[in-house]
Amino acid sequence: MIQNLRFRDAALAKRVTEKMHKIAPKESTVKICHVCGTHEWTITHFGLRSLLPATVEVIAGPGCPVCIVPASEIDEAVQLALKGVVVTCFGDVLRVPGSTMSLLDAKAEGADVRVFYSVGDAVKMAEKEPDKEFVFFAVGFETTASSTAVETLNKLPENLSFLVSHRLIPPAMKLLVEMEGLSLNGFIAPGHVSTIIGLKPYEIFPEFYGMPTVVAGFEPLDVLFGVYMILKQLTEGKPRLENEYVRAVCWEGNVKAQELMKKVLEVVDGKWRGLGTIPSSKFKFRDEYAAYDAHLKYGVKVGHGVDLQPGCRCHLVIIGKIKPTECPLFMKACTPQKPVGACMVSSEGTCRIWANQH
Ligand code: SF4
Repeated sequence: MIQNLRFRDAALAKRVTEKMHKIAPKESTVKICHVCGTHEWTITHFGLRSLLPATVEVIAGPGCPVCIVPASEIDEAVQLALKGVVVTCFGDVLRVPGSTMSLLDAKAEGADVRVFYSVGDAVKMAEKEPDKEFVFFAVGFETTASSTAVETLNKLPENLSFLVSHRLIPPAMKLLVEMEGLSLNGFIAPGHVSTIIGLKPYEIFPEFYGMPTVVAGFEPLDVLFGVYMILKQLTEGKPRLENEYVRAVCWEGNVKAQELMKKVLEVVDGKWRGLGTIPSSKFKFRDEYAAYDAHLKYGVKVGHGVDLQPGCRCHLVIIGKIKPTECPLFMKACTPQKPVGACMVSSEGTCRIWANQH
């Protein structure tokens, strides 16, 4: 698939691949984990795995923001929608399965569920229809959490509140590095999230866990350079934090966005679909902004939720323990048209990405 690249990029890809092959271990294996759905798309679409040395494996971690929303939080949004509240969300969220139904199923039952491209669109819609109650189902990592914070600090209409489901990436990386049996040798950290949080939150990985960590962009060359930089660190025996994505990410990140998030949101323990509770991995509104918290406003109460339908292996796919093709339901009972698990829904889900190449 290297031919999918422009001529200049293909030549550079060939050079960096040759360098990789020179320094890759011949006997032992290296397992590198990326934590971003867009990285998985680039790797799969451009067939980058076929360029890697046989001893180097790149696996996908929990980098799809939609895939990791626990069923219980989908259930909350469904409950509100069925109660008559207008639930608004990003398009990818619509078909994510809850315990018994998705928001799309609720819509089919007559609930008012609307898809928007930004939180700002939900604000405008709530202003336009003051006689209705609106909830924005705020899903996403630090990148979208910053938009939620910005909109909250603007004057929000009284008929709009949020189901905050934002998660933080570094605590999930910590879970992976400590997970028994995963045996990772390096991280490709996500580019989008890093534009907001910068590099500092990743320092712990090389310093405490001895894990080479490289923030990389999303072009095929970015990913190849990211892998090469990790192999180089391993060869030198000097794990460190490096930034391949210098054209978009700086050390301190977007300080203004961080300040706004800090003002509006606090960090609490959070449940991730199929992974259980990860300490300090979820955002919630600070007490000063509790008026915008749909949980409190409507007294939402649901059970624990059913994250995995029978046979679904999403919990293993999102930590890279198995490939989507190793799930018995892949492209049989579970397809992009009829997803069983959350990883088959979003364009950033590993199963969905693999299905598109099937
Ligand atoms: Fe889950 Fe479907 Fe992927 Fe299996 S193929 S892991 S059921 S999303």
